[in-house]
Amino acid sequence: MSNNILIAIAWPYANSEIHVGNITGSHLPGDIVARYHRLKGDRILMVSGTDSHGTPVTLRADADGLPVEEVYQRYHNGFLELFQKAGISYDLFTTTHTENHFKVSQSLFLALLKNGFLYTESRPQWYSPAARRFLPDRYVEGTCYICGFEGARSDQCDNCGNVLEPEKLLNPHSKEDGSTPELRETKHYFLDLSKLEPDVEAFLRERQSYWRDTVIGQSLGQIENEGLLPRPITRDLDWGIPVPVDGWEGKCLYVWFEAVIGYLSATIEWAQITHQPDAWRDWWTDLSAKTFYFIGKDNIFFHATMWPAQLMGAGQDFVKIFTGGEGDPLNLPYDLPANQFMNLEGQKISGSRNWAVWGRDFLSRYDADALRYYLTINMPELKDSDWDWDEFVARNNNELVATWGNLANRTLPFAYKHWDGRVPDPGELRPIDKAIIAVVEEGFKTIGEHLEAVRLRAALSEALRLAKEGNKYQDTTSPWFEVKSDKNEAAKSIYTALRIVDNLKVLFSPFLPFSSERLHRYLGYTQPLFGEQYIEAQQDSLGTHNTLRYRPPKPGWNWEPSSLQAGQLLESPAPLFKKLDPEVADQERARLGK
Ligand SMILES: [Zn+2]
Repeated sequence: MSNNILIAIAWPYANSEIHVGNITGSHLPGDIVARYHRLKGDRILMVSGTDSHGTPVTLRADADGLPVEEVYQRYHNGFLELFQKAGISYDLFTTTHTENHFKVSQSLFLALLKNGFLYTESRPQWYSPAARRFLPDRYVEGTCYICGFEGARSDQCDNCGNVLEPEKLLNPHSKEDGSTPELRETKHYFLDLSKLEPDVEAFLRERQSYWRDTVIGQSLGQIENEGLLPRPITRDLDWGIPVPVDGWEGKCLYVWFEAVIGYLSATIEWAQITHQPDAWRDWWTDLSAKTFYFIGKDNIFFHATMWPAQLMGAGQDFVKIFTGGEGDPLNLPYDLPANQFMNLEGQKISGSRNWAVWGRDFLSRYDADALRYYLTINMPELKDSDWDWDEFVARNNNELVATWGNLANRTLPFAYKHWDGRVPDPGELRPIDKAIIAVVEEGFKTIGEHLEAVRLRAALSEALRLAKEGNKYQDTTSPWFEVKSDKNEAAKSIYTALRIVDNLKVLFSPFLPFSSERLHRYLGYTQPLFGEQYIEAQQDSLGTHNTLRYRPPKPGWNWEPSSLQAGQLLESPAPLFKKLDPEVADQERARLGK
């Protein structure tokens, strides 16, 4: 039975490179879960894209003195390169600056309008008499009225983490020229979240039993404490998606309102470019499909509250307006395993202060699986975690190299050398051999259960524990001594060890796809475990945008125990992982200026 599962991953802003905190926060956990379900035979669609609109991007363009299109394309293309190198296997990684996304977002807006969940109201907005225009919220900074922090943006305080009401900011000044803005009235559309509150609350309560406490607690807490208030969803801005109503020229849909719609529009774009224009409905109007959203804790409100409200408010009318056909409701989020934050050497990661480990820079010196291993074993699932360079080196050397790598490395070359490059014929296996195979094969169940529930640290720890069991078995049987006294006994031991490695290769593969794929080849398999990632340009009326795509393997591999055959030809093996010099940690801290 194949299940349709959508892996929806937070859209990175086109104003900064991606650092390890972003990778472990959303992209990597989404990829691990996607790879697992693909191996299980589920029908996966993994989508995201670059959040190209909004003031973070125009601010960056202003700072760099470049056209905003150029800035978004530069970061977008960098993201594609990073995800390809890190093995983040998007079926489609696109951008919000596409004709399709404009149309999907405007249709969803019109469905909400039709159903009476939008209204207009004038509200005060910071206006720059010097620049003679309204200033976006992020262009205005001042003192937070909640915590007193002096460097708060008018829409959000990075110190206390609260979303702010811009007009309440104290001591406001324009980020552009330092001038003091004044409040002027401007008309905007508001999403009436208070009207949708009972639906949002019911949606959350249905998921209360299996969502992370951190996510459900914050979301229900907001409803219980202050209730849901209407929120403006348009802005005075020209870089973005025009409001699809006559007389609203010069105003755009708010970036948070439209970026979350990207999960839907990316699915639709994927269906179009794969020439199956209705296939998006398998994830969005087939209500048996499951949708998982991978995000950081700073995005919980927009995904657990705002996005479900948009979907429920649109009701059946999005499909009606977008397709011109019959109506159909849209699928609501099934799970939303938001992660906490990763710090760096005990301090909060800060891109602007360059206190960060940048993804592309890291991968210019280290292997992707070393990154993926450390970011998974240290993933901030339930509380903040810390990137510590000494710990990175120690885990790489003690766990990846000395435990899992060592098990593969003491098995494959030995088999290759003593059995003419083939899997030895063990004859009848001994009880000790059968016992360890059973222990390792149990991992398909236990690790599978952890992965289903998005407990990724626990899943990887379990795989590592099984690799330790494999090493113990090797120590006990010692085939390198057996081979001198009784080659038949050695054949049983080394065949068993190959079976253990073959099983662990699959169990580790969602986390460590590159080394598992190599190991898979060394073990003599000719069909790959995973598909290929590639970059493909798409064209529409807004221009050309590159996308990252994934071509699945044919036939796909399975999440099931090894049936390694005696006599199978092996490939000449090489070590899977590289040991790192402990000095590396000091060198990397020196790069940070520490
Ligand atoms: Zn504050």
